[in-house]
Amino acid sequence: MKQVGIVGWRGMVGSVLLQRMVEENDFDDISAHFYSTSSAGAAGPVIGGVSYTLKDANSISDLAEMDIIITCQGGDYTKAIYPALINCGWQGYWIDAASALRMDEKACIILDPVNRPTIDRAVKEGIKLFVGGNCSITLSLMGLAGLIKADLIEWMSVMTYQSASGAGAQYVRELIVQSAWISEHLSSDELASSGSVLPLVNKVSALINSADMPIQNFGAPLMGSIIPWIDSDLGDGNSREEWKGEAETNKILGLSPGAIPVNGLCIRVGVIRCHSAAITMKLRRDVSEEEFAALVTHSHPWVNYVPNNKVESVSKLTPAYISGSLQVGIGRYKKMSLNNDPIYSVLTVGDQLLWGAAEPLRRMLNILLGKI
Ligand code: NAP
Repeated sequence: MKQVGIVGWRGMVGSVLLQRMVEENDFDDISAHFYSTSSAGAAGPVIGGVSYTLKDANSISDLAEMDIIITCQGGDYTKAIYPALINCGWQGYWIDAASALRMDEKACIILDPVNRPTIDRAVKEGIKLFVGGNCSITLSLMGLAGLIKADLIEWMSVMTYQSASGAGAQYVRELIVQSAWISEHLSSDELASSGSVLPLVNKVSALINSADMPIQNFGAPLMGSIIPWIDSDLGDGNSREEWKGEAETNKILGLSPGAIPVNGLCIRVGVIRCHSAAITMKLRRDVSEEEFAALVTHSHPWVNYVPNNKVESVSKLTPAYISGSLQVGIGRYKKMSLNNDPIYSVLTVGDQLLWGAAEPLRRMLNILLGKI
């Protein structure tokens, strides 16, 4: 059995990865080892009745005994540990959720329903570095896979609405704490629906902007607000998250850099789980809603087409409906009344912890094991 090290198992992505691996019986075919950067030697997860003791995630000699390492620990960990392992001659496979090595020329970005031939080619060529894509890009490409395979997209403007859990465990906790903190300061009289709502709105607005609002992680209120910047400032008007849109889309699709131009704004919103993306795209020709529905629906099993009407959009194309599901919702497809060009809008909604993070990692493990 392959020795498989799992780092970052208690974080936001890692805990969903473990849940999915248990659901799919992935642990039956590997000898698993759990690592921690903060509590080596402590008790780890209990899986199938087996209690694991945590190993030291900073011990290169320990990690070097693994055939495959899956890490959801984050970019700083990857930058510190991966080169050290390679320098000591480690020959194993590294499967990573962090962005740090995605654009490395030796890395393959993994999203097998969209780019399985690229992954298979990489494995054959001896590539050993496999990295999950950016969660927003991944989910958009999952939804649009049918159009991509038919080579119908000329360019895309992608406006994202990204959930708090996309930033990690401590961030989503902060959103929930912000909400609870505001509730604690409101009396039942203030919440009663009689009289003008303005005093209530003013009080909540003041609470959101108060110095006591818990904002240690996000650095700004998210409850009742948005944060219009994700990741670092590249200094050219783009955030790094926005830059990833074009760079990763083309790399995942095996195209030359910039072949499909992609740009937009990435926005953090007060959603618990699931990223949405409102996409404006220029197609190479007119595509009716009927043809669009057939293309996206038949591209792979994890896409759910939602017809562009109010009832179905409001009930089935929302983070509330899609959270925890492997189905990526796609809808709001319409030709935009801008001019006569084939420019269309579409909304994708997907669980960024599943197809946007954990699922490609566990599937890559299973590809390497020859199981899928
Ligand atoms: P996270 O929740 O912050 O977890 C990362 C690590 O933080 C954990 O493994 C844990 O390490 C440590 N940690 C410290 N305090 C913690 C706490 N209170 N609860 C849980 N863990 C805590 O990060 P993440 O969101 O899983 O992201 C991991 C990587 O995946 C990042 O590179 C991220 O960019 C990428 N990613 C995330 C998402 C997403 O939706 N969140 C999607 C795609 C990619 P120790 O056990 O060693 O202390």
